[in-house]
Amino acid sequence: MESKIPYKIYLTEDEIPTQWYNVRADMKNKPAPLISPADGHALTIEEMNPIFCEELNKQELDNDTAYFDIPGEIMDFYKMYRPSPLVRAYFLEKALDTPAKIYYKFEGNNTSGSHKLNSSIAQAYYAKKQGLKGVTTETGAGQWGTALSMACAYFGLDCKVFMVKVSYEQKPFRREVMRTYGATVTPSPSMTTQVGRKILSEHPDTTGSLGCAISEAVETAVTNPGYRYVLGSVLNQVVLHQSIIGLEAQTAMKKYGIKPDILIGCAGGGSNLGGFTGPFFGEILRGEADYKIIGVEPSSCPSFTRGKFAYDFCDTGMICPLAKMYTLGSQFMPSANHAGGLRFHGISPILAQLYHDGYFEARAVEQSSVFEAAEIFARTEGILPAPESSHAIRVAIDEALKCKETGESKTIAFNLTGTGYFDLVAYQQYNDGTMTDVIPDDAVIAEALTKLPKIGNE
Ligand SMILES: *Cc1c(COP(=O)(O)O)cnc(C)c1O
Repeated sequence: MESKIPYKIYLTEDEIPTQWYNVRADMKNKPAPLISPADGHALTIEEMNPIFCEELNKQELDNDTAYFDIPGEIMDFYKMYRPSPLVRAYFLEKALDTPAKIYYKFEGNNTSGSHKLNSSIAQAYYAKKQGLKGVTTETGAGQWGTALSMACAYFGLDCKVFMVKVSYEQKPFRREVMRTYGATVTPSPSMTTQVGRKILSEHPDTTGSLGCAISEAVETAVTNPGYRYVLGSVLNQVVLHQSIIGLEAQTAMKKYGIKPDILIGCAGGGSNLGGFTGPFFGEILRGEADYKIIGVEPSSCPSFTRGKFAYDFCDTGMICPLAKMYTLGSQFMPSANHAGGLRFHGISPILAQLYHDGYFEARAVEQSSVFEAAEIFARTEGILPAPESSHAIRVAIDEALKCKETGESKTIAFNLTGTGYFDLVAYQQYNDGTMTDVIPDDAVIAEALTKLPKIGNE
């Protein structure tokens, strides 16, 4: 072991970043704006304000301001679980017998179990500051709903979570965490909204979908005075808040003279990948440094590697604004992969633009190889990783094994987004040898892409 670099690198109080970084400020080609599905005009802040919080809309639309001060109350909350450590994976390196140096930034050290708290606390803060009563949202497996309920409890905001019915029934544990933090959790579709009642009358036995839960959360926000809708990924503002991950990593690396060659993040809606790598993209975009950056997605939901760069709906219900992203089509139904947080048909418009412009590469990996990596990591580094995070582990291991072949001692850093304690059914399948890999046929993706909206794509 190199004695100078500790196993875990923490920052001191005065080294902690006090601003978020907005990578859009350094992008020559800005991400495409959100547009109206009715006539394709770029949404104005006046049109967004009835649905989302005002200050967050300003952040959403700001392509020019490079740094945003993090308000003191958010800094205070961050102190509960930040800075997160940058860990040198000495034990993993040894097990792989690689000359590569591997680091991971660990974002799972809070009750929500993931990086999502970095943005939920910011979104709850701006809602509170606007004088709102509460916020609404959807959640699939429950990571985002949990993070939001914690943030709302801290600021005394009401939190209404629409949870996809099948998860509500089959994954009661996260639901109870949310309720413990005071959130109201409603299985979706529900009888509490018009859209929910309509869906239930047409499909009485449906177990719900994320798209449907989004529709119910948006309706509840716009029909209840003092409520707004919040979203845990994809949006520019979320990537902005998540930049805290990359800024801390960058500061820790500078402190110890660590120069990463390869940076890796898993990609669902893109918020952790964008947040972890954003400040490093900034260096690339300003011509100060060069890094190989890799986004990792599941083979079952391969937006970057097999999707199309086009405007599309963010929701299955096709009511939300259109975003330009790499998409598999809003009607694409990913198979039941266990990385619930990566089962999204699209990706952040910021990352989509950077990918389109050739600034990074994407890789799709199969579920069983992801769990194999998770097992190696759990046994060597001691942390039980979330299935989503394990996509990044898989590629970090692959890159380290390449170094073993070539004898190069590259420095690899990846973002370990969270822990897998609520994903033990998935681990059980892996341990029992019953896990399968489902990769969609070209025809299935082509069919879903025929449903792209005409607006924005003509
Ligand atoms: C939600 C989630 C992700 C994926 O979301 P992004 O917005 O792509 O970062 C990754 N890991 C964990 C643990 C999650 O909960």
